[in-house]
Amino acid sequence: MPTKEKTCIQCKPANAETQNEFLPIGGLIPMTTIDFPNEIASVLFCQGCQWKCPYCHNSHLRGFQAQNIDYSWEKIIGFLHKRKNWLTGVVFSGGEPTLQKNLIPAILQVKKMGFKIGLHTTGCLPEVFKQCLQIIDWVGLDIKTVLDERYSKITGQYQSHLQVLESLKYLLSSGIDYELRLTLDERFITLEEVEIVQKQLAELKTKPLKIQKAILR
Ligand code: SF4
Repeated sequence: MPTKEKTCIQCKPANAETQNEFLPIGGLIPMTTIDFPNEIASVLFCQGCQWKCPYCHNSHLRGFQAQNIDYSWEKIIGFLHKRKNWLTGVVFSGGEPTLQKNLIPAILQVKKMGFKIGLHTTGCLPEVFKQCLQIIDWVGLDIKTVLDERYSKITGQYQSHLQVLESLKYLLSSGIDYELRLTLDERFITLEEVEIVQKQLAELKTKPLKIQKAILR
């Protein structure tokens, strides 16, 4: 991460309280070709998540901590500026990025720099997600388990499946390209339950579910 880059006035956050509070970032992948299909992208990991998945690999991002100075928004923008000739996309990931109150202005700012925008989300805040769908190019939506009361066994939040179903509805009507992915950890979801999820999604006429094996630690 560069530390002494300049940022043009046009690219400064319009309503930043301070640079450190604008969008709390807990980590960054400088370049990836696997997190945003057909793009060479950076991934920004936003802090904060309200769910409690037992296999979470980003538990250090769940809380809203004091901003890591290495990832201040000003430095992130400087980093993207320096690479805008060969990066094509930026992914807002987490944690859960839709919990960030400045997510929309942050996306608009990065989009204005010429990047395509990807969003990794759990779909836990359907109304914020709906707003994002108007300005982003691609979505990676996590599906945790069967979309009924069993969802809360993974997320720890009562009736969380209703939020995901609402987000899925917005996604499908948006026309934006997406990927639905499920982390398979057989300690918490059975293969029979995965089949039920696949049937539920087929009824909703979604793209096929991508299943990724959990990395056990
Ligand atoms: S939604 Fe993602 S970040 Fe949040 S607890 Fe689950 S795995 Fe971790």
